[in-house]
Amino acid sequence: MSDRIALSDPVTRIRGIGSKKEEKLRAMRIRTVRDLVLHYPFRYRDKREVRHLHQLTDGSDQLASGMLVRKNLRPLSGRRTVLECTFREKDGVFFASFFNMPYLGKSLELNREYILFGRMYRRNGAIIFNTPEIYPPGSERDVQGILPVYRCAAGVSNNDLIRWNRTVLDRLETEEWLPEEVVRERNLCDEAYMLWNLHFPAGTGAYRAARYRDQYDQLYIYLMAIRQNRARRLEEGRDASIPPADLGPFLASLPFELTEGQKQAVADIEEDLTARLPMNRLIQGDVGCGKTVVAEAAIYRVLSSGAQCAFMAPTEILARQHFEKLSRDLEPFGFRTELLVSGLKVRERRQLLEDLASGEVDLLIGTHALIQEDVEFKDLRLLITDEQHRFGVNQRKSLTGKSAVPNVLVMSATPIPRTLQATVFGDMDFTVIRTKPASRRPIITQCVQESGRKRVYVSVRKELEQGHLAYIVAPSIEESEDSGMVSAEKLYEEIRRMFREFRVGLLHGRMDRAEKERIMESFARGELQVLVSTVVIEVGIDVPGATVIVIENSDRFGLAQLHQLRGRVGRNDLQSYCYLINYSRSESAAARMKALTEISDGFEISEEDFRLRGPGDLMGTMQHGEGMNHLISLFANEELVRIVSEDVDAHLTDTMHPELRARIRRLSETDNSDIL
Ligand code: ADP
Ligand code: MG
Repeated sequence: MSDRIALSDPVTRIRGIGSKKEEKLRAMRIRTVRDLVLHYPFRYRDKREVRHLHQLTDGSDQLASGMLVRKNLRPLSGRRTVLECTFREKDGVFFASFFNMPYLGKSLELNREYILFGRMYRRNGAIIFNTPEIYPPGSERDVQGILPVYRCAAGVSNNDLIRWNRTVLDRLETEEWLPEEVVRERNLCDEAYMLWNLHFPAGTGAYRAARYRDQYDQLYIYLMAIRQNRARRLEEGRDASIPPADLGPFLASLPFELTEGQKQAVADIEEDLTARLPMNRLIQGDVGCGKTVVAEAAIYRVLSSGAQCAFMAPTEILARQHFEKLSRDLEPFGFRTELLVSGLKVRERRQLLEDLASGEVDLLIGTHALIQEDVEFKDLRLLITDEQHRFGVNQRKSLTGKSAVPNVLVMSATPIPRTLQATVFGDMDFTVIRTKPASRRPIITQCVQESGRKRVYVSVRKELEQGHLAYIVAPSIEESEDSGMVSAEKLYEEIRRMFREFRVGLLHGRMDRAEKERIMESFARGELQVLVSTVVIEVGIDVPGATVIVIENSDRFGLAQLHQLRGRVGRNDLQSYCYLINYSRSESAAARMKALTEISDGFEISEEDFRLRGPGDLMGTMQHGEGMNHLISLFANEELVRIVSEDVDAHLTDTMHPELRARIRRLSETDNSDIL
């Protein structure tokens, strides 16, 4: 067995990891050396400089060292104790108090040098560290430097992770898998250096270089995967076209005329469907612009040719709502629509799948259950996904198994900034719906501090008295100790007391499916007039009678999310209101609220959102490696996106290093995750 360690080795190759630790690591989804080194620290502690007494400052963690000259364990009230120590160093003496650590006294030896790390304060001119970390002599390497802080788990401590990463990184064998030219031209550090400095930065410059390489790599792999998908789609060569059909009867059945934007979208789809190449189109349009009817037109078009369609929604509530609307609209034309959700009885499900396979079901609506292994269509030609803001590398791939050549249509209310369309979503065509049904009025949005809360609920009452409906949103379900967030459960109690003469419902993600649906339906029918809820109502729900939404603790939500929530109202010709109650003093929250009160256009909102998020600050909280979520912050760095996509285009047809190929494959195998 060689001394070197490879990324693909199991963690048990690392000295000190036996079967016990292996099991704990597995719970953290760390199985291989790769998983371990990619479990990046989420922050660092700067322990570079050992300070002398006159250099110590109040308020931040600092490193000091001195010789232990006195120790004294003193009992306090109850079973509490304090261990008081005195240290001597060249400037004089300083003190440290360790609360409730009686065992520590035994292990500390007088007249030895120790290194301390912690926060100090002054009393009567004396310098006192309050329960600092303390390290014996000879442990400098583990103590000094910029040290990582990892997300840990039971049985796996931060020190374990530090030790193992050191062992690994000392002996790690990596190969350069990027084209040599790219490495040279972009001045990239190599991967071993990158990993070292992401875990144990030698300094700010080294850290910056490491982070650049890391971001470069991730974008490179992602964009390469996207480009390859595109190339593959263009090469597939099979005819995905669908014979033309007259949309007239469908359009005539609608109670309204399409807006200009909707007409354009329908025309774009028509063009895609008549072409040989499979469609892969993203329809972007602000909440309430009427994307559903566009989808319906596409479905009508495909079903008329005798083929099948699938319609995927992110939540069951939404799937059910689409099912009700679409089955009502399409049944008159003789099309059979069915709903596939997780809670079906075994027999119902089996029957449904049979009818689907034999082609008796024309349109299947559902959640992710739709793309499960055992769902087989007779002739699926169009898949629509609604409100899935995904950077989906494998969206098409996971579906191509289902039928010969599915056309894919994605609908999203969260617009992609134009600068990112060509690069990040390089495999998609875009249609933007910029118009709204003419009768709509802009939603009046107001941001209030806690003191204005009463006034808000007076306004809500006015709406209710006119027979309108209200949403009230809270960030969490139940009270939790640390957060101080408004919880839906508590709010529900309060609102019920406040609005005794109205019927109030509670909706949250932990309720079971049937319960959620029952509540959502009674709200949609107006049997409940107030719905207190968590963000489960976020996407796509269409209850035209709702004219007011109150978002409690709006500071806890992202900009795009707030905009989505606001879009639940303003869905008919009545004046609608959105009240944001801000409990924080945070500047970034204030900036989000301000943006929301000033901007109503979803496109501008998303551009602002990207701007406010920024590319992530150096040494700050580093979000990393948590699925694809992390990509969002990379995309915000438009300059990097531009550089990397240039490089990817230049090397698209090169023979790829096997490691690059493996990484692209791994990316395509990971689940897509929602990111906006
Ligand atoms: P979203 O784009 O947010 O998914 P929906 O498709 O749910 O919006 O449409 C919102 C509401 O607008 C629905 O009640 C729908 O019937 C209505 N609607 C859609 N298109 C038009 C139109 N052209 N004129 C009038 N109302 C429309
Ligand atoms: Mg919708």
